[in-house]
Amino acid sequence: MTTEAMTKEELLGNCPKCGKSWDGGPIPENMREHYSPPYRWSLVIDLEDPKVYDGVSWWKCPHCGATFDRFKKIKN
Ligand SMILES: [Zn+2]
Repeated sequence: MTTEAMTKEELLGNCPKCGKSWDGGPIPENMREHYSPPYRWSLVIDLEDPKVYDGVSWWKCPHCGATFDRFKKIKN
């Protein structure tokens, strides 16, 4: 079974829960070599759980605190 992880670049829309924007604006040109297009900051907070996955496994909305499973799209 394979699961497809969301990338942070997908998280520039609005929070499905509170509807507020996760778009943090453009990344300065001199920092873009470390990022991928569309070169915009996401306001979403990374949450790691080493028991689940070595890396980011959850996203957290900075506005309402809702958490989203990176591997299962939206969690209620
Ligand atoms: Zn939210």
